[in-house]
Amino acid sequence: MEKLVIKNIGLILSGKMEDPIFDGDCMVAIDGKITAWGKQADLDCEDATCVIDAHGVTLAPGLIDSHIHPVVGDYTPRQQQLHWIDSTLHGGVTTLISAGEVHMPGRPKDIVGLKAMAIASQRWYENFRPSGMKVHAGAPVIEKGMVEQDFKDMADAGVKLLGEVGLGTVKDGKTAQQMVGWARKYGMQSTIHTGGPSIPGSGLIDADMVMETGTDVIGHINGGHSALPDDQIICLCENCQSAFEIVHNGNERAAVLTINTARELGKLDQVILGTDGPAGSGVQPLGILRMIAMLSAFGNVPAEIAFCFGNGNTSRQRKLDTGLIEVGMCADFVLLDQAQHAPGKTMLESVALGNLPGVGMTVIDGVVRSERSRNTPPAQNLPERIV
Ligand SMILES: [Zn+2]
Repeated sequence: MEKLVIKNIGLILSGKMEDPIFDGDCMVAIDGKITAWGKQADLDCEDATCVIDAHGVTLAPGLIDSHIHPVVGDYTPRQQQLHWIDSTLHGGVTTLISAGEVHMPGRPKDIVGLKAMAIASQRWYENFRPSGMKVHAGAPVIEKGMVEQDFKDMADAGVKLLGEVGLGTVKDGKTAQQMVGWARKYGMQSTIHTGGPSIPGSGLIDADMVMETGTDVIGHINGGHSALPDDQIICLCENCQSAFEIVHNGNERAAVLTINTARELGKLDQVILGTDGPAGSGVQPLGILRMIAMLSAFGNVPAEIAFCFGNGNTSRQRKLDTGLIEVGMCADFVLLDQAQHAPGKTMLESVALGNLPGVGMTVIDGVVRSERSRNTPPAQNLPERIV
């Protein structure tokens, strides 16, 4: 039995917008799953195989990036970069979700080839976790000519995602809606490229097509990069029940418009975050933390709620077993504290003022995966493994 005890926690963020801060100073996980939290004196902390003294820092569910474009291992050909996933772990992210392996050189676009690549991508990230990171990949881009059996074949083989609708040859809402329906029938989640073209070869997806297609996630509702006109973003927020995914590599003004609109509509629970990296903008190891700070500072959202956009909301929208403090959820955590010399009386206040927190440790499936971040500003206090 592997038993993890984290004691002397200063603050527990739950990932739950309806109750974002939990009481307690101690977290217990057995065999990689959360079993209990609360006051240390009330918990069974005996026989721990790993003990962490948090030294008063904040514990939050590990952050989730809802929109990445991986290719293979910890390498991206998009910017010829190694170890971007390890760097992202140092930004407090413990789970990545592919929106398509579109940067694979020579990516097959014929139907048998794209199916084979989706299955292979799902496998190689299931079989190899760079630095322990959970990477949900194998997200095919739909192409003209696909039939229902193709989606069944992929689902039977373990493919659970669609890449961004619109990056392939399917450019009309009617065909896209039919294929997204087949994907959903076989348990595959879907997302769509919202806004103007990202790179030469991709096209415009407007609000009408997003609504007609009806994907589970409105991928980069703030554009990737080019955003839709304001009235179309507001229209999507008003009319859609799906996730509003705001990405780092999008239009920041449109991100603030989305958060303000969602807040006014009482729909903040639909807001989730991604980076959309690697991409033309490079990779963003701190992208999710930067979005949390930016949306809290400019979107009039308390920091403890903004953190939920980066873990609990994504967990719920995408039906994951991580991202929330709940019995049975994966023990995936980020321990963080106010950055040294950042203004604000507390970590949350400093984030609400637009500052990044300092990451002191990440834990995935109950195992310490990284210690003091090499990428965030240095934290005031650091957790320490004592057993
Ligand atoms: Zn896109």
